[in-house]
Amino acid sequence: MADTSELHGVGIGRGLTFGPVLRMPEPLPEPLDIPSALGPDVEKEHATAALASTAALIRLRGERAGGTAKDVLEAQAFMAEDPTLSDDIVARIDTGKTAERAVFEAFANFRDLLLGMGGYMSERATDLDDVSQRVVAQLRGVPVPGVPDPDYRFVLFARDLAPADTALLDLDKVIALVTSDGGPTSHTAILAREKSIVAIVGAAGAMDTPDDSVVIVDAAAGLVTVAPSEEQLEAVAAEIDQRAAQVPVPVGPGALADGTSVPLLANLGSAEGAAEAVELGAEGVGLFRTEFLFLDSTKAPTVEEQQKHYTKLLAAFPGKKVVVRALDAGADKPLSFLNAAAEENPALGLRGLRALRANEQILRDQLQALANAAADTEAELWVMAPMVSTVEETRYFTRVAREAGLQTAGVMVEVPSSALLADRILADADFASIGTNDLTQYTLAADRLLGSVAAFQDPWHPAVLRLVGEVGRAGRTLGKPVGVCGEAAADPLLAVVLVGLGVTSLSMSPAALAGVRAELTRYTLAQAQEFAVIALAANGANEARAAVLAAASPSNTNPKEKVE
Ligand code: PEP
Ligand code: MG
Repeated sequence: MADTSELHGVGIGRGLTFGPVLRMPEPLPEPLDIPSALGPDVEKEHATAALASTAALIRLRGERAGGTAKDVLEAQAFMAEDPTLSDDIVARIDTGKTAERAVFEAFANFRDLLLGMGGYMSERATDLDDVSQRVVAQLRGVPVPGVPDPDYRFVLFARDLAPADTALLDLDKVIALVTSDGGPTSHTAILAREKSIVAIVGAAGAMDTPDDSVVIVDAAAGLVTVAPSEEQLEAVAAEIDQRAAQVPVPVGPGALADGTSVPLLANLGSAEGAAEAVELGAEGVGLFRTEFLFLDSTKAPTVEEQQKHYTKLLAAFPGKKVVVRALDAGADKPLSFLNAAAEENPALGLRGLRALRANEQILRDQLQALANAAADTEAELWVMAPMVSTVEETRYFTRVAREAGLQTAGVMVEVPSSALLADRILADADFASIGTNDLTQYTLAADRLLGSVAAFQDPWHPAVLRLVGEVGRAGRTLGKPVGVCGEAAADPLLAVVLVGLGVTSLSMSPAALAGVRAELTRYTLAQAQEFAVIALAANGANEARAAVLAAASPSNTNPKEKVE
């Protein structure tokens, strides 16, 4: 057996599992445009055979997967059999190209055509890329890129995953996810959390781990143990059994040990997750990321198209608060219809509210669609603007929202300037919601997507907490609600600290609700405030976490005593 070794990264959640590794293959390089050495007849034969076997393999996958995946894969198989495409491939081979190059060019051409059509057709462009890669892989005799699909359960190792890859992961097969790139607030991490996948991101060197190595993935410790000993495996298996046997805190409203109410809300990216969120006890929605609905769109969505999505979402939360964020385009979530210009530093560019303001009609259409949806449903709709950095922007957004007939308009505090001037911002906004993912990125000057600086992306950092405290204080003084909807709210102990800093509600991936709900019940408001003081006094994130952990350990706390 190989020697045991370790990889360190940032854990998402607290899951623990073990299994064999499979690495995500690198995308194939573009085939060179060199003249064929085999001649057109042989190239055509190869191309035809590769297209046919690709179609057959995709169909087989579909049959094995069943359900909606079967329909999706059937449609992909048809792409590989499309006569227009094969005619184009043949024509290109006749000009002297290799089969690989002809396939690559013909698919790319078709892809551009689909993209030009917009809407549903443009969304198929990614599927077409996948088929193209599969055919080229067949021709080269190399494994097909994309999430591996073996007959057994495995731990997926990847550099990073596209949101589409993460969204389509077969959770019966992928038992854990380890990426070498990406920070804890990258959208891969967010989707992993949403799907309750045991995950570790930013684990440098992960892609050097050979396929089929056995690994233990311990998200709480941010540790991957490669080639563990029998004893280590037995201990982990026992721990997994013990966790499965634990009785969860009953689903109910979030509250501290002394009864202080802390509403627990859901972060959602589409209305599809609403039913599950309600089942897991979400008391409403604290962040609906509208840009996730339109990541593949090339044209701005119409009012009608948006209204359908929003009505579906609001209808799932009658009588409950639903906070919808206006499109947050740019940096890690570019929308082609809002972020046209290439920017050197997109995270510092025309993103969030700045991009919406530069395309005001898109903002007005979205607010109109929301107002229409709210009129048709019973939910209490709140709207907020992303990436607000000035008082003037706050006034702009709240005015435009009110002009659209929306009653409650707030801002996200994701930029240090907004936190520092929270008293002025909250004088105009009805509420603030702190986006700790971006707030940490901007406070520590560390790109949230970059594995090499992932260690800086830690919301336990006292500089971030001090900013949160500024907003909490302003909210208390002005009597305005202050939520947190960044990933910090999903860290159970940090959630308690945030409440101690004056945060009045917490919003997170539904999968995190149970852990946070249970942790809140362990401490009183006085204790939460004490933890906040302890964390603020630390010099760094690790020190803050360790100090609060020590103060929160059972030997140091007795909530009952403090309540009575
Ligand atoms: C955040 O920045 O904390 C946030 C909630 O927004 P997003 O992660 O979508 O940028
Ligand atoms: Mg953000």
